[in-house]
Amino acid sequence: MNCEKMKLLALLPYLAPLASAAVISNANQPITYDGYKVFRVLTHGQGEEIERQLQSLKAVQYNLNTQTNIEIAVAPEDLKKFEQMELDFQLLDEDLGVSIRAEGGFYPGGEMRIASTPNWRRPGALPDKNWFQSYHSFDDHLKWLDDVQAAFSSNSELINVGKSSEGRPLKGIHLWGQGGKGSKPAVLWHGTVHAREWISTMTVEYLTWNLVNGHLNKDKTITDIIDKNDFYIIPVVNPDGFVYTQTTNRLWRKNRLKHPSSSCVGTDMNRNWPYQWNVTGGSSTSPCDETFRGLEPGNTVEIQALVAHSRELVAGKGIKKYIDWHSFSQLILLPYGYDCKKRVENYERQIALAQGTAKAIKATARGLGSTFTPGETCPDLYKAVGGSTDYMQDMSKAEISWCIELHPSGGGASGFVLPPSKIMSSVTEIWNGMMWLLPNMNK
Ligand SMILES: [Zn+2]
Repeated sequence: MNCEKMKLLALLPYLAPLASAAVISNANQPITYDGYKVFRVLTHGQGEEIERQLQSLKAVQYNLNTQTNIEIAVAPEDLKKFEQMELDFQLLDEDLGVSIRAEGGFYPGGEMRIASTPNWRRPGALPDKNWFQSYHSFDDHLKWLDDVQAAFSSNSELINVGKSSEGRPLKGIHLWGQGGKGSKPAVLWHGTVHAREWISTMTVEYLTWNLVNGHLNKDKTITDIIDKNDFYIIPVVNPDGFVYTQTTNRLWRKNRLKHPSSSCVGTDMNRNWPYQWNVTGGSSTSPCDETFRGLEPGNTVEIQALVAHSRELVAGKGIKKYIDWHSFSQLILLPYGYDCKKRVENYERQIALAQGTAKAIKATARGLGSTFTPGETCPDLYKAVGGSTDYMQDMSKAEISWCIELHPSGGGASGFVLPPSKIMSSVTEIWNGMMWLLPNMNK
């Protein structure tokens, strides 16, 4: 989550998180969340007061805007205290620890034993589609990229745009068509900037897999899409945070950069882009907060690498289509986050494209498509400053610059902890959306 908007809050029954996991998010010991119960507390206009009350609990709060409700995971030792508050609530998850284990990708203590789908590797060929039936370790994501590239070697190369603060690669893949490498404007996709938003990794990879598979099978529409765009796709731009969600804290959001003046770890990379970084509101100056913006604009090595990469693309054929993939809430959000009164210059075009994309997602076969809400610029945006989409809009001059918040629309624990059985339906509908968007932008 990154690009929350106040107005959308009014439209939607529920809008998820900027979690403020103040109580436990900085612990160094693995957290299983066993026995945590997730509640939606209805606030009836008393949001601030109820939030203050809840802050006395050992808990993780999922959403910052408390206008209609607060979703919160409460630790077992404080459940009684919570009940005694006599709030109006619904139970969303009986045991968050059980949900996390059922997801199959979290193993506390640093030992990586991810329950990866067996036999997804097919030497010399594109990885098996069963890859999308489970979540995977970071190392497997790297191997997966290798295999995709090897299967499409004449029209792709691996890209390594830099390293994380703990030395992991920011690795991706570049695809091109008949015009040759770097001959067309860029489609740039970033996944997993917020560590816990695992469905974003799988989505970006599914889009990649389908593009390559379509081209290998000589699908005319897909080949045409690749011929008209150079794709630069980085499924995990925050690898340290991602690994940390698999070993220590499933609900970790930031990167893992240490601070000289604080024992709290991590910067919210999506508040660290060097553009309108110090606008008041919309990010935090406290290293312990989930939206900590960093010590200086673009001071995280990951953002420095992504900025350098985007500049390279701008100096080439330019960046035409940028999407930063997040979860959750089912929103398609345009800039700006930093200025609530300002609209993007090509607003009418961007919002029409967002509406068309949402419609294509919804039209997914057998009535399985979800409702995605395009974000509109309005005077009462929820401010989020130093974000990627504002940067790509104004600094990289992208034609569209979106943050897409993926499945689900809400629902407590399952918000970030989406069961593996939901991966395929979630990524399929997004593919449908892109298969409308990309050809329409090429016209
Ligand atoms: Zn996010």
